[in-house]
Amino acid sequence: MNEKDICRIVVENLEKKHDLSDMAIKLWFENLSLEKLTPDTAYFSTDNNLKKSIIESKYIPYLKEDLKDILGFDVNVVVMSSEGSSFDAQIKELEKKKETEQLKEVAERLDAEDRNASNPDFVRVYDESESKKMSNIIVSRSLPNYSPEYTFDNFVVGSSNNIAYNMAHSVAERPAVVANPLFLYGSPGLGKTHLLYAITREIATRYPDFTIIYVKGEDFTNELIEALANKTSILFREKYRNADVLLLDDIQFIAGKEAIQEEFFHTYEALFESGKQIILTSDRLPKDIKSLAERLRSRFEHGIMIDIKPPDLELRVAIFKRKAQAFGMNIPNDVLMYLGENIKDNIRQIEGALKKMRALAYIQNSEICMEHAKTAVNDILTAKAAAITPDKIITYVSQKFGIAPEEIVGKRKTNEIAISRQVSIYLLRELTDMSYENVGKVFNRDHSTVVSAVKKIKELMDKDSSFEAQIEDMVKDMRSIGD
Ligand code: ADP
Ligand code: MG
Repeated sequence: MNEKDICRIVVENLEKKHDLSDMAIKLWFENLSLEKLTPDTAYFSTDNNLKKSIIESKYIPYLKEDLKDILGFDVNVVVMSSEGSSFDAQIKELEKKKETEQLKEVAERLDAEDRNASNPDFVRVYDESESKKMSNIIVSRSLPNYSPEYTFDNFVVGSSNNIAYNMAHSVAERPAVVANPLFLYGSPGLGKTHLLYAITREIATRYPDFTIIYVKGEDFTNELIEALANKTSILFREKYRNADVLLLDDIQFIAGKEAIQEEFFHTYEALFESGKQIILTSDRLPKDIKSLAERLRSRFEHGIMIDIKPPDLELRVAIFKRKAQAFGMNIPNDVLMYLGENIKDNIRQIEGALKKMRALAYIQNSEICMEHAKTAVNDILTAKAAAITPDKIITYVSQKFGIAPEEIVGKRKTNEIAISRQVSIYLLRELTDMSYENVGKVFNRDHSTVVSAVKKIKELMDKDSSFEAQIEDMVKDMRSIGD
């Protein structure tokens, strides 16, 4: 029995079993054909969109039932119309869509399983309303998942990160003795946050009485802005000055804002003078954080500054191997080599690639192979380009300039608002593939406004080197968010 026979029987049954009139059969099913039958889907086609939509809205259950009678198993029914692209193309697209959906579902489920497997119980997320302390670690509120796998044991050491690793370890063993402040810097995704968590954990175990505060530069800034607005800066101060160890991750985010730096400076001095350990990270050296207050810069430079460099091939492959083991994946050596050669500058992408491959193998019910690695590498490199969105840029500029996002996309034209808007437009053009037209839409403006905003910012950068440095920092910040 071929597709043609099956289709004929199905249509006959519509008449016999489901009592469809001759008229209905003639109107809707005359040119129905079965293009393709897979174990889970029957792809029918007809010759126009109206028929397609009528069949879809009324007759799919009948078709399914009849197919089940003939085939003995359930299949999904898809109806295509020859008014669209070729059937082959339509089938391909539908199959691809189905696979993407399935893949997403599986990836989400596997992720959730990972999360459940690792549920730390000695860490709490800081909550101002909570008066009683439950543990000695206080973490940033934007970290609902305090990744318990970020330990020293799980940090793979190679020539690009061994000094950072050893120093972090020594500081965790003897806080405020070895290096204070400890300033770790390096590009995004190279393990700075991982090391900070590892330090946090290690100190919490060795010194159970210590109050340890881990906070991201961004959260510190937002928290302080809120505290100032709600007149709760005393509480804010108390919280931070109470720390035995303060870890501030991505310090570059506090640069530029006078009030924030001022507050941080006082916190810093108070802690430092009473012999508390301070650990900072950044994506660059203090001297390269352009709008960092001079007195903060000189404080940081007083400590020990250590960089983490991008991993070499050997380390990348070693990390792939280790993470694959942790995910319970068995990856052939040639595939490991391929991954190591292609995923280069960000270790976060290594995890992404492995998860993608795991999901692919899972839905195809097959062993991990080179094909999976190729798909994963390709997806990761494309996803990176799409990670920076207009919303993220506007939120960021809003924080930097202290102008509400509504104003940035709004109509008002005070100097400050106009500049924030132009900078946002410039960043969108610089950091995304969006056309002038589409950038314009974000701001309810036309193409020519976008062109002149970009021009304006470029001119300002040419004229004013400190403005130029500020914009360059912003581009860097956004790129690191994209990672
Ligand atoms: P950063 O803070 O520098 O941007 P992260 O610490 O967030 O980078 O690291 C990104 C991801 O890469 C994390 O999942 C982290 O566990 C992982 N990672 C980075 N370096 C290593 C390493 N040497 N060994 C194992 N995992 C690493
Ligand atoms: Mg980080």
